[in-house]
This record gives sequence, C-alpha cells and structure tokens, in this order.
Amino acid sequence: MAETLTPDICVIGAGSGGLSVAAAAAAFGVPVVLIEKGKMGGDCLNYGCVPSKALIAAGEAAQAVRDSGKFGVNGHEPAIDFGKVNAHVHGVIGAIAPNDSVERFEKLGVRVIQAAGRFASPKILLAGDHAIEARRFVVSTGSAAFVPPIPGLEATPYLTNETIFDLKEAPAHLIVIGGGPIGLELAQAHRRLGCKVTVVEAFSIMPKDDPAAVDVVREMLVGEGVEIIEGAKVGSVAMDGNRVAISAEVAGKAMRVAGTHILVAAGRRPNVNGLGLDEAGIAYSAKGIVVDRRLRTSNARVFAIGDVAGGLQFTHMAGYHAGIVIRNALFNLPAKVDYRAVPWVTYTDPELSHVGQTEAQAREADPTAKAVTWSFEENDRAQAERATEGFIKAVVGKGGVVVGATIVGRHAGELILPWVLAVQKRLKIGDMTSIIAPYPTLSEVSKRVAGAWYTPQLFSNRTRRVVRAMQWLP
Ligand SMILES: Cc1cc2nc3c(=O)[nH]c(=O)nc-3n(C[C@H](O)[C@H](O)[C@H](O)COP(=O)(O)OP(=O)(O)OC[C@H]3O[C@@H](n4cnc5c(N)ncnc54)[C@H](O)[C@@H]3O)c2cc1C
Repeated sequence: MAETLTPDICVIGAGSGGLSVAAAAAAFGVPVVLIEKGKMGGDCLNYGCVPSKALIAAGEAAQAVRDSGKFGVNGHEPAIDFGKVNAHVHGVIGAIAPNDSVERFEKLGVRVIQAAGRFASPKILLAGDHAIEARRFVVSTGSAAFVPPIPGLEATPYLTNETIFDLKEAPAHLIVIGGGPIGLELAQAHRRLGCKVTVVEAFSIMPKDDPAAVDVVREMLVGEGVEIIEGAKVGSVAMDGNRVAISAEVAGKAMRVAGTHILVAAGRRPNVNGLGLDEAGIAYSAKGIVVDRRLRTSNARVFAIGDVAGGLQFTHMAGYHAGIVIRNALFNLPAKVDYRAVPWVTYTDPELSHVGQTEAQAREADPTAKAVTWSFEENDRAQAERATEGFIKAVVGKGGVVVGATIVGRHAGELILPWVLAVQKRLKIGDMTSIIAPYPTLSEVSKRVAGAWYTPQLFSNRTRRVVRAMQWLP
C-alpha cells in the first residue's frame, strides 16, 4: 500500500537544479521531498562537469611535461598510467559527493526517496512505495546524450558521457561523433593523455561561438594532433574485426575512419520520457518541457528547471533556475528569467568563454554595434607563460553600452566575469577603462580592450584639433 506524503514541495531529480531547490526550501523550513532514481548529484557530479574537468586537468598535467622544454625545463613525452588517471577522476567525484549525498540532505531536513518518479495525475506523483501530493512540484530530471539514428550504431559498442569516465585503459584511437563543447573537451583531454583522436562533425565545430575564436581553438587542437573532420555526414557505423569504423561523406567524397572506441557527443536530449507528463497535463516536446518566464509549466502546480526545461544546458543555468523557482514557489514572487547575461565556457586549452551577444547578433539587432579586439600577444603575463594564443573581443552597442564579450585564451573562463557584470548591469565600455588591473595579470586584457575602443577616437582629427587648441590656453 503506497504511503501518501503531502510536502509543500516535491523535487524530481537530485542534480544541479533539484539539489539547489531542495536545499533552499529546507533552509527556509519548508517540508520538501526529493526524488532521485540514479546517483545523487546528477550529471554534473557523476558524468559531466566534474569528471570532465578532472580528466582535463590530468591532460593539462601531461601537456605541461611535454611543453616544459620551452621554459628551459626538461620537456619529454610523459608516461601516463590511465588506470591512475581514472582513479584521480573518481577521487575528485568522491571528494565532492558528500555535498550532494542523501545523508547531507536528510540532515538539512529533506526527505529523500531513491526511486523513479512518475506523475499519475496532475496532482499526484508516484515514487517507489510513495504517492506524493505536493503543493508544488519541480521537475529537474536533466538530459542524456542524444544518440543520432545512424545505421549500425545501436549494434556497435559506443561510449557516452555516462560510460567514458569508467575507462581504466586508454582508448588507442577514440572517434568522437560531435564537435560541440563536450566532444572537443574530451577529444583534447584524451589526446593529451596519449590517445589518437578523431573528431567527426556534421557541420562546423562549436557553431554557437564566434568563428574567429573557434579558429584559435581548432588550430590548437589540430596542432596537438587531434584530427578534426568537419562537414562529415556519417552514413553508417560498423564493427571491423575488433575495431569500430565510421563511414561518412565529406564534400561529396566517401571516407572511412576506423578506431578502437566511439564516443557519441552529438547533443543532448531532455529527460521527458517515463515521467507521466501527459497524465499530469504538462506540455513538452523533444526540446524539453515547455515553461514560461517564471518557469511554470502548463500545469499550474508544476515548475521545470535545468536541462529538462530546454534552452542553455549548464550547471549554472540550473542553479539560476532554482533561484527563480524558489522565489515563485515559496514566496509567490513573480520572478522571471533574464537570459541576457548568461556566460558559457568551453574548457579546451585555450578556453573559450562568452557572454551576451556575439558580434553578428549585435549587428543584426543594431547595425551601429561595433566590436573591438585585443590580442593575448600584447599581454605581458601571457608572454611570460608562453600562452599568447587568443584574443578578447568586446561587443559594444548604442551609447557605448557593453552587449557582449568573447574571450579565447588561457583562463578565458576566469576572465569573463567582469564582462558578465558589464552586460547584466548595462555598463559602458568606458567603465572598464577606469578600473585598475593588477600587473602583470591576464585580467589586463579586459582593461586594454576597453582602452582600444577609444584609440581611434584619441587619434581622430577632432581630438587633434582639441589638443592643438588647448596648447594655446594660458
Ligand atoms: C560531459 C559533460 C560536461 C559538462 N560540463 C559542464 C561544465 O563544465 N559546466 C556546466 O555548467 N555544465 C556542464 N555540463 C552540463 C551540466 O552537467 C548540466 O547542465 C547539469 O547537470 C544540468 O542539471 P540538471 O539539474 O538539469 O540535471 P542533472 O544534473 O542531470 O540531474 C538530473 C537528475 O534527475 C534524475 N532523474 C531523471 N529522471 C528521473 C525520474 N523520473 N525520477 C527521479 N529522478 C530522475 C537523474 O538521475 C539525475 O540525477 C556538462 C555536461 C556533460 C554531459
């Protein structure tokens, strides 16, 4: 007989979004039930951000050994123990896991049910032996790797983000289907850890980013030996003895790549299946659950957040959504999402970060918008660290207001924050020139690009005339 629970809030999915809602609700003393069918922490902790960044860190360590010759330090090909790399990755997950654990959440006052949740009606969710009738539900079930319907793929062993971090032996030749951020981050990390890597992309890599910035990333990856095949329409996948082979068409020509492992990184699919969304009267599509700007679904009791709500799929988005839902569901405040200043980072080396409008988007909205760039080559710290690849680009709209920024270069992910603030607060490019940036830091690129915005004006005929006139003043 199912036990009926009647909490104020029931959260389905204990990943980045769901955990934030549950923790905040519990902190306000609100009765909350959290349902999780898999591992606490969701994709980010177990199969996403955390293991990928730990693997990238291992790749960076290997590359540092390889590259150290340029500093006069004995550079050589490093010896890599992939089993130990795997232990490092899982050690990092293990170090963070207690923060997301059942024990911690129960201590916070959250009732955790480890089972799959499924709506039976617009008001009732079933999970294990429980029926939950909550005042509000929050669906935060995340997303999974989209597996494209390529003939032969289902009959061939392949890896996704849920399985690749379990490899204890290095894949000799990893073929990555998909040249988006996930595919490229993992491609470079594996290459640096000694694997042969081929990326097969149907269109061009990182299509959402500034093409000039993507060129810098592409050049670096290719320089390190990652084979990138763009414009490749994969026709089929098959076993070839104990190898796996991909047949594709590139610019009208047939080609074939054979390797030892395939990683499918061809986009994400929101987890909408098996949730009883039809029974609950919740509208959804293949892109995710349909939500309004307050993240309400078509069922007034139910909110949806994070990857399952479509849109930008990042941990910081899920966290941002959680804050919006807390204000709406707990305090009845009409908080709405504002996506103007959402940053994202691709953690390749060099990193690529972005916020706001790209140059092309800004020009489309306002033909007078302009971009200004500054090269990392002009930065003394980048020179000292021999990391001069890349540039910063600020996109400036009417009245000198910053509407976007792209950075490609060392630590671009760390450098984007002042630009997030600038876009969010509608600061002017001049605000960035008046700050004092510590020397020598990579942060100086932000001040210098803002300064570069004024350079043409400083040397304009008008300024020259003003300066000449001032020389006659007493
Ligand atoms: C390889 C990789 C690297 C990434 N790197 C980054 C990064 O560097 N930075 C970044 O911001 N983002 C990154 N992401 C994206 C990030 O992981 C997701 O955006 C984030 O995890 C989404 O949070 P969420 O709460 O929506 O879903 P999730 O964290 O996936 O949590 C959803 C949870 O719901 C559970 N669930 C699903 N259905 C049910 C059900 N019916 N009943 C009960 N439980 C259910 C799942 O088991 C899961 O635990 C990466 C993703 C991948 C795959």
